[in-house]
Amino acid sequence: MSTPSTPFAAAPSRANPIPDPASEPRWVDLRSDTVTLPTVAMYQCMLTAALGDDGLDGDPTVRRLEQAVAALMGKECGLYVPTATMANLLAVLTQADRGTRVLLEAGAHMLLSEGGGAQLAGVSYVGLAGAGGRLPLEALAALLQDADAPRIALVCQENTHLNAGGAVLPLDHMQAVRQIAHAAGARVHLDGARLMNAAVALGVSPAAIAQHTDTVALCLSKGLSAPAGAVLAGPASTLVEARRHRKMLGGTQRQIGVLAAAGLEAIHTQPATLAQDHAMAAWLSQGLRADLPTTLGITLPSTNIVFMDLPPTGPDSAAWAQALLSHAVRVRPWGPRRIRLVTHRHIDAQAVEQAVHAIGHVARRLLP
Ligand SMILES: *Cc1c(COP(=O)(O)O)cnc(C)c1O
Repeated sequence: MSTPSTPFAAAPSRANPIPDPASEPRWVDLRSDTVTLPTVAMYQCMLTAALGDDGLDGDPTVRRLEQAVAALMGKECGLYVPTATMANLLAVLTQADRGTRVLLEAGAHMLLSEGGGAQLAGVSYVGLAGAGGRLPLEALAALLQDADAPRIALVCQENTHLNAGGAVLPLDHMQAVRQIAHAAGARVHLDGARLMNAAVALGVSPAAIAQHTDTVALCLSKGLSAPAGAVLAGPASTLVEARRHRKMLGGTQRQIGVLAAAGLEAIHTQPATLAQDHAMAAWLSQGLRADLPTTLGITLPSTNIVFMDLPPTGPDSAAWAQALLSHAVRVRPWGPRRIRLVTHRHIDAQAVEQAVHAIGHVARRLLP
């Protein structure tokens, strides 16, 4: 019997599927902590994970991850989803009825960078400008007490707060927001995509942060380095509804324990590495401030994000990003006059030095 030939027969076999960073050119990629690759241990966990059909009768590895994240957050249940964006949308779909309003800080990722999820939920998002990513408490309380306006069903916080430069919300602030919201009958959701960075920076457990929220979204593929995935955690009754809505959004996957296995390994081993990311961001900021003219504004990071603000005239952020490519440094334009630099587990001391050197070089060329 002859073997039928397939178009796939010529595909090269790779004995070792694990990429070897040492064989790659030395790029310093500061665009985001989402560029992190899985660890070798994650690949090993993926190879041996117990799998099932998560859309039929469940996947055992997904169940373990959901339980582990729920325990970490001090919540009853967890739900594995493809992205933190979907986790945030599920928090809205399950806690804000159509026609109600959702309050967020004006720079919130949910408001600015998630494709307009409010439209799918049939609610309106109201942004309140705050300092350092914090909601303005008096304005929040006033809005919640306006009986004639559409009901506010949900108040969202973000910790760490991306557009506030990775700012960490203080626990007493989160507690105040929760008290004000609950007193007015509104639920509280935390976009905790980088909640583990906040926990490390504050030196507290994730549950100490998540106690001030009804539901919380944790992203596994930022600094935690899993290839994909996020978990929504919260009360069992809300999570039953979230599971139903996940089906509607097409987020129910099958043998997805193969990815959840990497997520499980991530939550056990990667939080311990985040302090190093924060130290690298601090060092990057310090190096840039020492090396560059003061016409460039360099933020002092509290976690893993540094912003560099360009002077109002001269080449824009895209021109800087382009110029840095010839030094093998990748950065992210964040609006026309701001550049975003994010540290993560592939950014070591040598990478920071290369970035500081490259940015200094480009500054001498592009600044007047
Ligand atoms: C990245 C990010 C998200 C969305 O995460 P995805 O998993 O990429 O959808 C949500 N909130 C914040 C603050 C983020 O930084």
